[in-house]
Amino acid sequence: MRRVSNDVPVPAPPPRPPKQEGMPQSVKGMRDIIADRFALHAYIEEVAKNAMRAYQFTEIDVPVVEATRLYQRGSGETTDIVTKELYAFETRGGDKVSLRPEFTPGIARAYVERGMSRMGLPQRVFTAGPLFRHDKPQAGRYRQFTQVDAEIIGGTSDPVYDAQTVAAFYRVFATLKVPVTLEINSIGDRVCRPGYRKLLVAYYEEHRKQLCEDCTRRLETNPLRLLDCKEPGCKKLRENAPKMLDKLCSPCSAHFTEVMEYLEELGIPCSLNPYLVRGLDYYNRTVFEFVHEIGSLAGGGRYDYLLETLGSRPTPAVGAALGVDRIADALGDRYQIPGKKPKAVFVAHAGEKAKKCALALSETLISAGIPVRDALAKDSLKAQLKTADKDGLPLALIVGQKEAFDKSAIIREVRTGLQESFPISRIVEEVKRRLKDSRE
Ligand code: AMP
Repeated sequence: MRRVSNDVPVPAPPPRPPKQEGMPQSVKGMRDIIADRFALHAYIEEVAKNAMRAYQFTEIDVPVVEATRLYQRGSGETTDIVTKELYAFETRGGDKVSLRPEFTPGIARAYVERGMSRMGLPQRVFTAGPLFRHDKPQAGRYRQFTQVDAEIIGGTSDPVYDAQTVAAFYRVFATLKVPVTLEINSIGDRVCRPGYRKLLVAYYEEHRKQLCEDCTRRLETNPLRLLDCKEPGCKKLRENAPKMLDKLCSPCSAHFTEVMEYLEELGIPCSLNPYLVRGLDYYNRTVFEFVHEIGSLAGGGRYDYLLETLGSRPTPAVGAALGVDRIADALGDRYQIPGKKPKAVFVAHAGEKAKKCALALSETLISAGIPVRDALAKDSLKAQLKTADKDGLPLALIVGQKEAFDKSAIIREVRTGLQESFPISRIVEEVKRRLKDSRE
């Protein structure tokens, strides 16, 4: 039995039974998150949500299904997310919809559609839930995965918002003790990026023959993406490519300098990565990623033009998202979740009448906020206590025929076997006291 938490040990998932003809199977690229893996995912999500709350974000929920057009307009017609990875389908009513591949366009739509700017500026919101990308399934890349996403929308494009967004996500990794490097870059704005784009295209046109197939296509559609291609030939080429940071206009340059100053003030170390562009069309100015040895665990940036694309008045915004599944991969199966919840007690019985009393005792304990474990369907007391020991629980409450008769229960220290009898009326108080002691 592996133990992911100090309080409630959860069994390791059993090995998969051999596949048999006719047996139902999960869809390719989809997974079940069970047992200790679930506990780990839930813990990561909770740490991230708490960090967002601490940084003044409030929780919202947006639909899993949106109009396909939203992602085409929002994420960008030529992005991988839209051209290759969208789970797009037509509803029975003929609407073209998609499962969300990212949160930002949906949240931006909600901001515009619900007039959220009237609720105060900026709006700081966060959400968590499943996303869907029809990518090639591989380690760390799932077709359904969970993100925690936070956005600061509206108001001004003050670089302090960029820094606070980074800080909230940095806090998550610090709390979880995941070693990450914060990589950061500025990709300019409407003023300076077109000129840079031309320089970049001119540079790569000269070396067109050395580009991989994807990059040859990207040269026409999304030339900035050539900078983050992983092919060795393309990686070599980019070393001499013009750098956006050298071509920033003065407002972009000043903005980026301020972001860096705020991060320094916050004591958040970061490393400049001139090749970081991120895959989506809507980013401008600051882009960043938290990178671990297994890959990127979170990323985000500023997107001052997205809301305009969706029909809003000019509305600056900045946001980021972390991948719960990827962070769980980085932490690994041996990660110990710090136990916070009260420990459970085991309730056992000996005899038919005692079984009913034990059941009622469980209710009393649960009502008092004490989690209960039992094996009431087992008749043998020895077999029941064996389960308590296996689960690593400190206390077992035993109700026998005598206890059922005089309304009492025996408290047994599972590890030492020491036992003492208490009237039911004093059990809750005594169990709480002993559980507290056993945790200290
Ligand atoms: P993105 O929305 O692509 O910027 O990704 C933000 C974070 O989500 C990444 O750093 C990963 O942690 C996670 N992520 C993105 N795509 C996947 C995927 N296919 N499977 C698992 N996690 C993912």
